[in-house]
Amino acid sequence: MAPAKFKKPPQAPPLFTHTPESLMKNTDRLLSKNKGLIDRIVADVKPESAEFKDVLLPMAQDDNEMSLESHIIGFYQAVSTDAKLRNASTETEKKMDEYSIEASMREDIFGLVDAVFRKQKDDSKLDAESRRLLEKDHKSYVRMGLGIPAGEKRDRFKAIKKRLSELSITFQKNLNEESGGIWFTPEELDGVPEDVTSGLKKGEGENAGKMYLTFKYPDLFPTQKYCKVQATRKKVFLGNENKCNANVELFKEAIVLRDEAARLLGYPDHATFRIEDKMAKTPATVDDFLGDLKKRLAPGGDKEIAKLKELKKAETGEADQYFLWDHRFYDTLMLERDFQLDQNKIAEYFPLQSSIEGMLKIFEELFGLHFVKIDGEDRAAISESGKGDDIVWHQDVQVFSVWDDEAEGSGFVGYLYLDLHPRDGKYGHAANFNLQPGFINENGTRRYPATALVCNFSKPTPKKPSLLKHDEVVTLFHELGHGIHDLVSRTIYSRFHGTSTVRDFVEAPSQMLENWCWTPSQIAGLSKHWSYLSDDYAAAYKASANTDRLPAEAMPDDLIKSIISTRHINDALFNLRQLHFGMFDMSVHEPKSHAAIEDLDASALYNRLRKEISHIDGPEALGEDYNWGNGQATFGHLIGGYDAGYYGYLSSQVYSTDMFYSVFKKDPMDGKEGRRYRHMVLEKGGSQDEMQTLEAFLGRKPSTKPFLEELGVA
Ligand SMILES: [Zn+2]
Repeated sequence: MAPAKFKKPPQAPPLFTHTPESLMKNTDRLLSKNKGLIDRIVADVKPESAEFKDVLLPMAQDDNEMSLESHIIGFYQAVSTDAKLRNASTETEKKMDEYSIEASMREDIFGLVDAVFRKQKDDSKLDAESRRLLEKDHKSYVRMGLGIPAGEKRDRFKAIKKRLSELSITFQKNLNEESGGIWFTPEELDGVPEDVTSGLKKGEGENAGKMYLTFKYPDLFPTQKYCKVQATRKKVFLGNENKCNANVELFKEAIVLRDEAARLLGYPDHATFRIEDKMAKTPATVDDFLGDLKKRLAPGGDKEIAKLKELKKAETGEADQYFLWDHRFYDTLMLERDFQLDQNKIAEYFPLQSSIEGMLKIFEELFGLHFVKIDGEDRAAISESGKGDDIVWHQDVQVFSVWDDEAEGSGFVGYLYLDLHPRDGKYGHAANFNLQPGFINENGTRRYPATALVCNFSKPTPKKPSLLKHDEVVTLFHELGHGIHDLVSRTIYSRFHGTSTVRDFVEAPSQMLENWCWTPSQIAGLSKHWSYLSDDYAAAYKASANTDRLPAEAMPDDLIKSIISTRHINDALFNLRQLHFGMFDMSVHEPKSHAAIEDLDASALYNRLRKEISHIDGPEALGEDYNWGNGQATFGHLIGGYDAGYYGYLSSQVYSTDMFYSVFKKDPMDGKEGRRYRHMVLEKGGSQDEMQTLEAFLGRKPSTKPFLEELGVA
């Protein structure tokens, strides 16, 4: 039971009672209010007397208000079970994007912003966050083409921006709604765990006796890891690489248009445009970083392949080639054979629900937080409609109110939502979505954030809870880390709230937290054998294991050791895979000329680079050309905002490893350092220069050494 004072948050949670019609209506209302505001500012304020408080402040405040509704309007497309609502969400998001492009290209308001910028960019009477807002807003108008003289070129730029926004939304929609799969006989699925096959759709008629394996993670990963039939793994691998071919053209169109837009703005390419305001500043810095890493990792990757080939040879008698569809299988087998890493055994100690509780406890101790689950009557009590169901978008969703602990002042922090299991039409990966950002209201009070974790872990059954593999534990902790970043952030403007930092920093806090999942004391603390969750589960365990004794409740030391000892096994190949994504991303965004990007065969480049970087064989090793698959069409990142930014996953590891090694490694549960981190890093969001945040926390400039040491390539 939560203490009574934690029962009633000072701010009601958002309601999820929208209909397709209300989404449309609300969107129109928000947009016309915003337009009215800008029209009024333009009519009332003259450039000579324009000041921050009359131009940027009211616009920022309207942004704050608008974001309370707009994020949720766009959120339904990722989570609603109602296709009409998903479509309306997609449509209204398109409309909002179009409007915001329109608004950010208004010459009249830019004239005023420009005047304020000239007058007040160094005005010490403005607080630092407001000065940053002024600088960033001004720059974003310039980047939206207002530096291009009005006329044909500017109109073309505007049309490109609109089209790019449509492309991004359609691309993601195609991915979310992808529902392909392949029929297999039980023999073809030999080795795939029973808890996966038992959940597959059974065939009738011509497919009688077969099972339908989809490309969703809970089907895909276990098949790639455990299916003993190479032909099946190959089919599934190729099927997955070709599951969303409708996106091939959209991807191509996007990279061509991005290049054209960058050139219209006077940049040599899209990467230069994207990276100038990031921590890396220039594509050359990124290319050098990735190139150096590739050189350092390549020998390790080859060694790993040689060992994996030996294993394949021992298993099958032949191993001239080591294929992409072999990799997860032999990687898993090696970990089990050579390192006694039994993923399924380990998963028995990570039931989803108790793991989440354990993770929240870590955040409580480290950051001085308090999570209160809101169930049943309590939901109705805080719901503005009086109905408990209205505060969630689906009955499976869990809600928490989050508070500061006593030492932190017992104040309200925000709402956390967990939406954990797959559903038709639901976003297919694991990610954190901001539902409502925090900011300072016009009257000076604080608006508190609401943030959601959307994941796809298998559903519990009466006989067995949902169990997490160790890598899923890491993913969950990582995504929760984004959620915590989103919750504890305290900025003046919603624009800088939480994870609204530069792309090449945003992953660092979550990546740093992943280290907790590789620390013995933390693994032990998180673990709880599933048979201890309830009497029914205890009975089910005894029946299934044919024993009358339960195993130890916490994970035994030898299992923990096996996890730790395997952290870097085949790690060069893992990082080379990340490099492949990063280098492909850079390649398509820094072509030598516009003609080069128009002529580019992105699929062939994607597959060729993969071969060149990882040295793992694909169908090309069997005599096919490089057009055997379209992985870029399934790669939401490069369309959804990580364009010329995927390298950030690797480069922010430099920062995260540095922070972990120098501050938390000796004691990950050091509450004093945890609170210092919370207030100096997480709380700042994007409200100050990220390098400044990092250097202030470290007390020095960041170093790449810990990262290279951790990879064993220093
Ligand atoms: Zn992340």
